[in-house]
Amino acid sequence: MTADTLRLPHCQACQRSHWPPREICPHCLGETVTWQPADGGGQVMATATLHHSLSPDFAPHMPLHVATVALDCGVRAIVFVAGGALKNGTRVIVTPGRGPSGQEALVATPGAAR
Ligand SMILES: [Zn+2]
Repeated sequence: MTADTLRLPHCQACQRSHWPPREICPHCLGETVTWQPADGGGQVMATATLHHSLSPDFAPHMPLHVATVALDCGVRAIVFVAGGALKNGTRVIVTPGRGPSGQEALVATPGAAR
């Protein structure tokens, strides 16, 4: 496992992963959630481009591209997009990365087909 391996919260009771992180499982309310490696492959479902931000951390990074990605492991996640805007249906690889202000975030890069 490398530093860019996607890891997601995974419920030990129902064996499903979720995003964003929560202390209890959003599917079954199980209380034993651990972080496990996950397949970062997925498909873009929706996109948005932000042109203005009230946050001084984000303002220098406009336009900022974000996407909702349906990961192959069954999780849907809102992620930052590396590079330019993506079209719906684009295959992407989601990895852990940094958002515009340096915060930990998920980042999608156009990537390999399934
Ligand atoms: Zn669960």
